[in-house]
Amino acid sequence: MTGHLAAGAALLLALAVVIAGRWRISRTVRRLDEMLARAMSGGFSEETFDESRLSALESRLGRYLAACALSERNVREQKDRISALISDISHQTKTPVANLQLYAQLLSEQPLTPQGRDCSAAISAQAEKLQNLIDALVKTSRLETGILALHPQPGAIAPVVERAAGQYALRAAEKGVALTVGQADGTAVFDPKWTEEALCNLLDNAMKYTPSGGAVTVEVKNYPLFSRIQVADTGPGIPEGEQTKIFGRFYRAPGSYQAEGVGIGLYLTRQIAEKQGGYVKVDSAPGRGSAFSLFLPRDTGECGQAKPEM
Ligand code: ADP
Repeated sequence: MTGHLAAGAALLLALAVVIAGRWRISRTVRRLDEMLARAMSGGFSEETFDESRLSALESRLGRYLAACALSERNVREQKDRISALISDISHQTKTPVANLQLYAQLLSEQPLTPQGRDCSAAISAQAEKLQNLIDALVKTSRLETGILALHPQPGAIAPVVERAAGQYALRAAEKGVALTVGQADGTAVFDPKWTEEALCNLLDNAMKYTPSGGAVTVEVKNYPLFSRIQVADTGPGIPEGEQTKIFGRFYRAPGSYQAEGVGIGLYLTRQIAEKQGGYVKVDSAPGRGSAFSLFLPRDTGECGQAKPEM
């Protein structure tokens, strides 16, 4: 009898220990959950100041969150400093570069030897290159740091294609390159101003690298998830080994040095495409011309879209 009683008591005790253990675990989980909820809402403060492990954890979480807030503030301050520095550089270099252009112009109006005339033309060209380089640097760093934000919105692609191609009509005629805009209908989600800039970079390259007598064609093709704006040319083409490098900052493929440029156009184009959920691709081979494609996401209401196989 006493044996049964002892066994019953032991069982009850074990049950009580299990229940107490479960209760402690569920209380700990509940408190952790509350802590995380307060941390996520930004209203975290230490609430228990005893010797328990939970209190120590709470205090460590408090220190971690304070460190995160500090580094976030530092990043924001650094971004503001970069933004101010970029504005200063852009603002302060404008006048000297404009003056260089002006003095080169004044010099060219003087009676000069042929060599002097070449020098003044070179000063003018280099000053223009410097201004383009500064503008490109300012633009890329503003895009990279998020100071310049893109505002993608659903819209028709044709007006952007027409505006961009229109800017190159005269140059094409002067150079003797046939510039054609093919099928341009389609809608996508994009920032019209920046997309036009990306497209102009592709057209600028196509015009620059395609010799007289060649052709440049712009065409839009719509896929279920993306719309593709393709700029194809009959220029020299790009060797396979160069095709990933040309999207790098300041990279110019060997053999391009005679052409005007600083090697930033494709880098900027890729940044613009990616900042609005798109991407850029090149299909090219030496002697076969190049086709650069700018893919823009379509308005499907889905995220994490897969790239179409070309
Ligand atoms: P840039 O034209 O100023 O050199 P980009 O970043 O626009 O700079 O292009 C990088 C390089 O890619 C160019 O130097 C050139 O070698 C190559 N490239 C770009 N577009 C073409 C094209 N349409 N045909 C041949 N090569 C090209």
